[in-house]
Amino acid sequence: MRVAFLGMGIMGRPMAANLVKAGHEVSIWNRTPGKDKDIDGARTASSPSDAARGVEVVWMCLSDTKAVENVLFGPSGVEESLTEGMIIADSSTISPSATLRFAARAKRRGVHYVDSPVTGSKIAAESGSLIFMAGGDEPILSTLAPLFQSMGKQVFHMGDTGKGQATKLAMNLQIALIYEGFAEALTLATKLGVDIERLIPLVQASMVRSGVVDYKAPFVMKRDFSPNFPLRLMLKDIHLTLDAAKEARVRLPGLEAVEEVYDLAAEEGHQDLDYAATLTLLEKWAGVEVKGAA
Ligand code: NAP
Repeated sequence: MRVAFLGMGIMGRPMAANLVKAGHEVSIWNRTPGKDKDIDGARTASSPSDAARGVEVVWMCLSDTKAVENVLFGPSGVEESLTEGMIIADSSTISPSATLRFAARAKRRGVHYVDSPVTGSKIAAESGSLIFMAGGDEPILSTLAPLFQSMGKQVFHMGDTGKGQATKLAMNLQIALIYEGFAEALTLATKLGVDIERLIPLVQASMVRSGVVDYKAPFVMKRDFSPNFPLRLMLKDIHLTLDAAKEARVRLPGLEAVEEVYDLAAEEGHQDLDYAATLTLLEKWAGVEVKGAA
């Protein structure tokens, strides 16, 4: 298929590279141009509208709601190149209510809109094993099936447009709380003199085990806080989730407490590290360092 992929970040670049590898005709664009953002076999476009010209599908993976709005409807935006029957698919994590606004504006041009945020982080983006949670019409999702298959291992159809983003917020709420539990447990156990090298295998053997711990424990044990999912983006998702909860009149006391940890970690300058670096704030408060094998 002919695809424009917009956003060559941690996630977008490997996703676009997997589309090229699968034989699709791909044009790419990134706000900040740079050699390392190019992909062999893809055409590097000069603007979102240039990338989107003549394609069947425009796929985005951008930081936040504002970025998606700018890229779609700002100067030299995708809107300039939209033609009837095209499909916009958004794998960014953004506001569900803004997604509905963007979809309505696209629909006026006869363009279909699918929100398809992902879970799986950098490793799954690189290996083409992302999990998509999609909102949109079934026939449109079927049309996108070859693209989903090139980038991921599963697609969950969650309902109409907007339901993918709503689901993603519910997923990241759990990731933030699970990791916070893990990080607080590591900090307390260390302070109480428990050997973390013995604790982790116990966690993995018990009902405490989770995908979050499976993914993060090796990084934490190496004290590698380089970004797989940057703290600033998890904080963005916490804000999106609390906003959506407020709109829906739902209270989330656990997430509100975790928001404060992320706010303080960002103030400490950790915003571009992985969100696993929130551990370092807990360690600082406790006066300990969680130690794993080098
Ligand atoms: P990232 O590495 O920070 O990349 C963000 C991308 O958005 C970059 O291409 C950036 O361009 C672009 N961008 C930011 N503001 C923009 C603007 N105003 N206009 C145009 N482009 C703009 O982030 P990522 O980790 O790839 O994440 C992308 C999305 O996927 C986010 O919504 C994130 O929440 C979600 N997500 C991430 C993960 C993960 O583990 N990393 C997992 C699931 C979902 P520049 O290069 O110019 O800055």
